Amino acid sequence: MKVKDPVCGMKIEKEEAVERVEYMGKEYFFCSKECAEKFRDDPERYAHQGKPRGHGCCH
Ligand SMILES: [Zn+2]
Repeated sequence: MKVKDPVCGMKIEKEEAVERVEYMGKEYFFCSKECAEKFRDDPERYAHQGKPRGHGCCH
């Protein structure tokens, strides 16, 4: 089963994910430790990728 790495947007096989992070009851899979670390740093930013908010926007 393919999943999307929310940080870099890469599609990876679940079994091949290097890291797995649980956030708000959902599981996220990452292609590398780097991506997982970025996610842990700022999960809010990556967990809502379904709804585009634009980059560096004010709010
Ligand atoms: Zn990645």
